[in-house]
Amino acid sequence: MQQWADISVQTPAHSPVAGLLTYRHVVTTENSPGLTEGTLVRVPLGSRELLGVVWAVQDHPPATLKEGSVRDIAGVLEALPPLSAAWRQLVQFAAHYYQRSIGEVAMAALPPQLRDLNATQLARRLKKQAAHTAPPAYAAGLPLSAQQTQALAEIAAQPGPFLIFGATGSGKTEVYLQAVQRRLEADPQAQALLMVPEINLTPQLEERIVARFGAEQVVSMHSGMTPAQRLQSWLAAHSGRARIVLGTRMAVFASLPHLQLIIVDEEHDPSYKQQEGARYSARDLAIYRGRLEGAKVILGSATPSLESWHHSRPAQEGGRYQRLLMPERVGRGQLPWVRRVDMNNQPRKTVLSAPLLTAIQARVERGEQCMLLLNRRGYAPVLHCADCGWKSECSHCSAFRVFHKLDRTLRCHHCGFTERVPRACPACGNADIAPLGRGTEQLEEHLAELLIHVRRPDGGPVHILRIDADSTQRKGALQSQLAQVHSGEVDVLVGTQMIAKGHDFRRITLVAAINPDNALFSSDFRAPERLFALLMQAGGRAGREASQSAQSEMWVQTFHPQHDVFAALKKHDYPAFAASQLVEREQAGLPPWSFQALLRADARSQDVAQAFLNAASHALQAQAAQDPDLDGLLAQVSLYPAVPMSIQRVANVERAQMLIESPSRMALQKVLAELHPTLHAQRALPAHKGLIRWLVDVDPLAI
Ligand code: ADP
Ligand code: ZN
Ligand code: ZN
Repeated sequence: MQQWADISVQTPAHSPVAGLLTYRHVVTTENSPGLTEGTLVRVPLGSRELLGVVWAVQDHPPATLKEGSVRDIAGVLEALPPLSAAWRQLVQFAAHYYQRSIGEVAMAALPPQLRDLNATQLARRLKKQAAHTAPPAYAAGLPLSAQQTQALAEIAAQPGPFLIFGATGSGKTEVYLQAVQRRLEADPQAQALLMVPEINLTPQLEERIVARFGAEQVVSMHSGMTPAQRLQSWLAAHSGRARIVLGTRMAVFASLPHLQLIIVDEEHDPSYKQQEGARYSARDLAIYRGRLEGAKVILGSATPSLESWHHSRPAQEGGRYQRLLMPERVGRGQLPWVRRVDMNNQPRKTVLSAPLLTAIQARVERGEQCMLLLNRRGYAPVLHCADCGWKSECSHCSAFRVFHKLDRTLRCHHCGFTERVPRACPACGNADIAPLGRGTEQLEEHLAELLIHVRRPDGGPVHILRIDADSTQRKGALQSQLAQVHSGEVDVLVGTQMIAKGHDFRRITLVAAINPDNALFSSDFRAPERLFALLMQAGGRAGREASQSAQSEMWVQTFHPQHDVFAALKKHDYPAFAASQLVEREQAGLPPWSFQALLRADARSQDVAQAFLNAASHALQAQAAQDPDLDGLLAQVSLYPAVPMSIQRVANVERAQMLIESPSRMALQKVLAELHPTLHAQRALPAHKGLIRWLVDVDPLAI
């Protein structure tokens, strides 16, 4: 017997063969009963052999197939159960929605090592996997607070999806764990997926889950794992042996044959959006997957994304998610008292205002911890020559190189270009070049000078620790630095947003945002939302221990103390902030009241990048003149002219973007699909010589 199968394989992003490829399979008595949908296979493509997934099988050749043009499947990975219909549907939906090929999404969703193994090697790997063990008794959960009990009852009784809107430290994580536990106990096969923004940032959570459910029940999935570890986790989940997958955004594609519960912790976090290849939102796909597989979905945050908040408005008003409220912190831990320092009243160039410095000093002398947030790493964002005006620009990017004093380098944070700091101004020879602005390195240095005479209760000097992308490059560095904070060794923690998220620091009583104003004037309409979330999260690190005698504090140094963001922060009033933002968004026709996609082009010159995008847009409009359906669609969709990106040049590549916007998600999707062949056609034109690549970002997070 013979079969013809449509198979998804990895093809280059802009190749003309973007879809599924057809192969033949000869079924013999040895390999019967033949292929089914979802089977993993190896197929020849050109001179290579690639991994593929069977998408459809027929027992006669497709009519369109040219005689003799079809090749045979090279091997079938029989040892693996086929991927489920739901998994394939998820991949197909994601490919379609985010405008990529099925093969690309499917292959990115599978562990990389699977691509390199033939059937024999894979069978050997599978043998090594532990045998199925009887489910152990789980460790008991904490006795629940009233609001935790209430949330769990709603989750059990309602279909969802749910949005838990819970204060930092309100015990959301405990609700997730007990919801998982109930599912796993109710059904001996059930599997749960728990997604977090970044696992490495919160090793505590992994420990907590393993302690509760046992190491053999839980696997992790994130990009920090070795290919061998990723394969092992994937196989454990695919076989049903692992009951819980704890992972970052990539885990949304994990193969989980008995998936019943999906949890997305800190659902507002931008790291759920993939920023290359298929630019998917793992949070949005989680909602889709839950509906597809009949799994309950729980999103949780203290500062939900405005999209999720909007979806969880009352059902009478059109809300589709159920909002569960957990306003109180566990125990008696109080939310911090927010204090705004008006920097207009401080001497010029003040880094730490006098009242903040006094407060830090008092906390440290009492043995309490402080956390200082500054969202800029390095010593200073720019070096500058006052004589001739030279600045430390990157020669490859339209950006400045950052001065790192510790290793005396100028480093571009966009392309990585690094040089020793020059001894004198490269333009005029002036020996007196100076840093402009400040980063975490400088703050750490400055603080050490200011606190030099301060003593801890034990008489020792103040211990300051900096945590940012530079201090944590070495493997294990972050873990050991966090451990120093938890143990109480550290008195003052200085860092970027890395320290603001998720950590359950027990002894921090003062949190300060040193210079949060930049985000207020960003051209990105999501900047206020993001700043508010960051500050609420940062403030949420303070006062988590109820036994602390003193009221905890969150300090904000700003030149705009009356700004809405800070006024809402002072009241810890996310709902009021969200309501005012949503009104503004509605008036401006922005998401969630509209849907957006960005079309981006990279080229050798800015002219070509823009011309390519504009030409595609014009071609589409010309096509609409002949096609009433398309014309009707375009009437609902705005195609804006191409503009340079905010950082126009990176690593000598010029970047342009074009915004496409519509109140109808469907219309936007259809127009994007129509645009696809148009873009391919434009690419080949001589006028667009020098074009490097183009891509589509659907529901972009940054404009
Ligand atoms: P969130 O995820 O909302 O920030 P967590 O679930 O991490 O909150 O809870 C904050 C702290 O309170 C943790 O240290 C946790 O162990 C503790 N906690 C949570 N629920 C309870 C409870 N029911 N009883 C006692 N302590 C709890
Ligand atoms: Zn100079
Ligand atoms: Zn650069």
